[in-house]
Amino acid sequence: MAKRKNEYEEVCAWCGRPGDASQQRLLIPSGDQHEFICTECVEAMHEMIADQFPKMRKKADSDFRKKMKDNVPTPHQIKEFLDQYVIGQDDAKKYLSVAVYNHYKRLMQPKDADDVDIEKSNIIIVGPTGTGKTLLAKTIARQLDVPFTIVDATVLTQAGYVGEDIESLLTRLLQAADYDVDKAQRGIVFIDEIDKIARKGDNPSITRDVSGEGVQQGLLKLLEGSIVNVPPQGGRKHPEQKMIPVDTKDILFICGGAFEGIESKIAQRMNSHVVGYATDATRNRLKDKQDYLRYVAPQDLRSYGLIPEIIGRLPILTHLTPLDRNALLKVLTEPKNAITRQYEKLFAMDGVKLTFAPEVLDFVVDKAIEYKLGARGLRSIVEAIMVDAMFDIPSMKVKEFEVTLDYAKKKFEAAHFEAASV
Ligand code: ADP
Repeated sequence: MAKRKNEYEEVCAWCGRPGDASQQRLLIPSGDQHEFICTECVEAMHEMIADQFPKMRKKADSDFRKKMKDNVPTPHQIKEFLDQYVIGQDDAKKYLSVAVYNHYKRLMQPKDADDVDIEKSNIIIVGPTGTGKTLLAKTIARQLDVPFTIVDATVLTQAGYVGEDIESLLTRLLQAADYDVDKAQRGIVFIDEIDKIARKGDNPSITRDVSGEGVQQGLLKLLEGSIVNVPPQGGRKHPEQKMIPVDTKDILFICGGAFEGIESKIAQRMNSHVVGYATDATRNRLKDKQDYLRYVAPQDLRSYGLIPEIIGRLPILTHLTPLDRNALLKVLTEPKNAITRQYEKLFAMDGVKLTFAPEVLDFVVDKAIEYKLGARGLRSIVEAIMVDAMFDIPSMKVKEFEVTLDYAKKKFEAAHFEAASV
């Protein structure tokens, strides 16, 4: 770096020249005012960057495509991976696997190709809470090497109201990509609780629908693919905050929601159409209201309060089914990080071999069903049974511990789970 000729003279640290107003060469000080750079050097740097940047970008792009080509898992491999962690939900797994695979393929198409442009297919998953929507999204994220984030739609409000601006959804993605904008632009965003931004009433113009249609309109911009200014720290946008422009064209959006009560809208539609999805035979088979979920169609989302433009931008619609008794039993023991396995591991770390009597598992599932907690409740029920053992065993000299039905019942009753869970 060029030094000052003497300690009083201010010169450009790059070219060593002093400022010269007659030649419009001004010196710009560094933050601590100790170093300077002249406007001519800034201009030269700017030109250099403008010249090099597209080349670097093109190279990074083609390196990325080359790397991807060898590493993209097939839809079968993606589903097999999901199977290790998520019980059932085959339809949704298949749709997700294909969508993610196609997402990779779209990323691999050369930017300047003028043939068929593969459009992205954002996904919407409808299913009751606790059936594995978030688990599916999280599991997919483990396998991907594109940035991934899960965000909650409930915090969003229309610009200008209390809450977070729509653009803040992408802040988390930027963070997941270490603020590498190119990387973030190839990422996947899972938007949870999308049903919470459904329009509340039939007539949106009576009152301002702060968290409904306004938010949907904002979200539409992201789903469609446009350049949006993202606040790097999230939250609300401040005028003085520097924004990062992000192009959402290649970002894959997966939306999930419980859409509570949508079954009756599906039922209404199916029962009022003589022709269409439902034949009499199908209708007779649909004994349980929740069976209707598998026939969910875009028009049901519309009757629920999503605007048609949003539905159009989420062309892949799939569903998750409620977990029955058998599935809940499997959730307890089968996934790679099943709840019982986690406790076994915890005890093994203290040198204790933990086993659950099979009737205990039935008991836990029965309680989860009784308290209408579904899969979400399994963990807290097992926790209530196990807390005393976890407290005592590390100070006892035992090598084995079996959780019997009697023990489980006793501990569960003592935990006053009923009072705690309401
Ligand atoms: P939601 O559908 O509300 O997003 P989650 O994915 O958060 O539900 O599920 C809650 C918990 O229940 C998960 O942490 C997981 O342990 C369990 N779970 C739910 N569904 C499944 C499933 N299909 N397979 C395995 N575990 C599940």
